[in-house]
Amino acid sequence: MARAKFPQDLLGSIIDCMELSSPLGNIKGIGPKTVELLNRAGFFTVRDLLYHLPRTYESYEGAGRISDLRPGKVTVKAKVSSIKTNRKRRNLSITEAILSDDSGSVRAIWFNQPYRTNQFDPNKTYYFSGNFEFSYGRYQLMNPSATLASDYDRAADKYQPVYPACGKLKSTNFTKFFNTIKPFFAQIPDLLPPGTIKTLRSEALFQVHFPKSAADADQGRAYLAFEELFSLLLAGQFNREENQKLRSPVIKYQLDQLKKIIAKLPFKLTNAQRRSTWEIIQNLDSPIPMNRLLQGDVGSGKTLVATLSAFIAAKSGYQTALMAPTEILAAQHAETIHSFLRSSGLHIALLTGSTKNKSTLKKQIRDGQVDLVIGTHALLTDDTIFHKLGLAIIDEQHRFGVKQRQALLAKTDTEESAKRDSSRCTYCEESSFGTIPHLLSMTATPIPRSLQLTVFGDLDISIIDELPKGRQPITTKIISPNSIDQMWQAIENELKQKRQVYYVCKMIEDGTELSSVKKEAASIAKKFPNYKVEYLHGKMKSAEKDNIIAKFTANKINILVSTTVIEVGVNVPNATVMVIADADRYGLSQLHQLRGRVGRGTAESYCYLINSSSSAPTRRLKEIERSQDGFHLAEVDLKLRGPGEIYGSLQHGALDLRIASITDTKLIAAARQAVNRFAKTKPNMLKYKELAASVQKYQRLTTLN
Ligand code: ADP
Ligand code: MG
Repeated sequence: MARAKFPQDLLGSIIDCMELSSPLGNIKGIGPKTVELLNRAGFFTVRDLLYHLPRTYESYEGAGRISDLRPGKVTVKAKVSSIKTNRKRRNLSITEAILSDDSGSVRAIWFNQPYRTNQFDPNKTYYFSGNFEFSYGRYQLMNPSATLASDYDRAADKYQPVYPACGKLKSTNFTKFFNTIKPFFAQIPDLLPPGTIKTLRSEALFQVHFPKSAADADQGRAYLAFEELFSLLLAGQFNREENQKLRSPVIKYQLDQLKKIIAKLPFKLTNAQRRSTWEIIQNLDSPIPMNRLLQGDVGSGKTLVATLSAFIAAKSGYQTALMAPTEILAAQHAETIHSFLRSSGLHIALLTGSTKNKSTLKKQIRDGQVDLVIGTHALLTDDTIFHKLGLAIIDEQHRFGVKQRQALLAKTDTEESAKRDSSRCTYCEESSFGTIPHLLSMTATPIPRSLQLTVFGDLDISIIDELPKGRQPITTKIISPNSIDQMWQAIENELKQKRQVYYVCKMIEDGTELSSVKKEAASIAKKFPNYKVEYLHGKMKSAEKDNIIAKFTANKINILVSTTVIEVGVNVPNATVMVIADADRYGLSQLHQLRGRVGRGTAESYCYLINSSSSAPTRRLKEIERSQDGFHLAEVDLKLRGPGEIYGSLQHGALDLRIASITDTKLIAAARQAVNRFAKTKPNMLKYKELAASVQKYQRLTTLN
């Protein structure tokens, strides 16, 4: 369709250069001091500012009389007859006002908005809009927004954006900025290829920042969401295409070898393990690099699938590197994998920061004498070079960043692989890309379907959706101050049956990790004088940590008081109780992970979630109490917190889908179609500057090179 053209003479006056990437200093009308404030709040370019979208909109239409107020969202036109602020705690102040009109008066409450005290002139009338609700024993107006009635009545825009505050910048500051750059909107270049959608980006952004109505704002947002998804999906598509050009070694498998090793395991594979292993070895047997994510709930047996994949690689003459986020976990993997592969004759090694004789081991790795190296970040040091790295496995992948993934994939001896490339060139006419190992990432944080379709669209995914047989469900209970004695009673019962207990301490914010863990351990030891209580925290030397874990594993410690260092991996089937203090302060996935430390044996297990305050449990706590389904919890978490929070460490902030569209499967489907149509045209991305910039950002999320 035809693009609207904006006459050149309208440009120029507001901004010298019309690029969205122009620094904010180029905008005439925003002074240097303001620019500095904006910079400090993380806004550097015109684009940063334009995409600072309203949090919500305010309208004071339809104000009612105070005597007619009903619970729910209300608007009143009133004077402020009294107002005062009380500072309750260091980080809590409460401002209380009495609002009056000729029908009566009502109390308004603001939390942490002390500036309200001086905002109102008692002789002037204001609009207030907020929730009228029952709290602290009476009905009151909670955190209402407010505006001078005469201003509002005069204003042309009755539907006003409310911007998220940033540093010193309040919503009203942003309103001002946008009014300054309003004329600039017309020249905002489009991002989507022409004809993709029947609106312009300039119009959409205008609608979002200067809507006439709710419908207007929604329409603008829908466009921006589409634009965002389009970039994201296109990035996945490009990654997939680029991935096809890379080469990995072809790793053949022999089913009888695999069957033999499986037959020697102390248990039968679950169907899901079987299926996942099969999917992986199919990928390995191809020159196209595998980029597969193995997801399975805590305790679903991912390690075994990884082990079997490494076994296949070794039998075909290729090395495997398995990287875990902590030393404890790496050591435990090494031990488990050793036991799984005892009869295989494979040479397995552990490489962490505290490994002794590192240089000897590294030489063996380089010479190809080690088949499987299990380690931590220590694997990434420059002098760790593999002879023939065929498979890289990353456990708990969300703990690692893009750079670390790429570093691991680059760990193969390039001279060696170059030799191999040139000797085997039937399918590698593009061998200038070099060879990389196949990649298997593992995660216990299930990725909701909506994210699978978008952010992780270019990954292959295997799902372990069944737990090994005989696992007991974990009884989860929210513990309030009233029920805490019962909890200790129940714990004592378990201890009497020789079961073990994890106690995850209060969250620590100010670096007093050690003293806090020690203190809690001491107080628990006092409660249970006949049992052995020990503590574990992140700042301990790894030898100390290992020692504690080993003792706990051997049932020489009854209660292990710990920080969240035990969140990943630790596997002690005899532990049947998990207590989480301050549980309401953790995210859902983290709670689910912590809970997954118990329920690993055949005895019934318990998880106690101690609510840090005496107020009603949060939605998160209620969800985790009710459900043990990691996928369900991940969906809820995604809705409650957004993807950036949950997958943040993987993305390093790149996954900032700001427009909450990630759960909108209809929109995703539409964007997917548009992307497919566009990709088929083999577009020259140099022609689409805006799009290219946006796509590049997302491409880094899952790319292999
Ligand atoms: P996760 O998926 O959380 O990494 P693990 O691989 O640590 O889970 O497995 C959890 C426990 O289940 C381990 O003790 C492992 O030996 C055991 N396990 C794995 N597969 C099976 C199976 N098919 N049957 C019974 N136990 C299994
Ligand atoms: Mg694991």
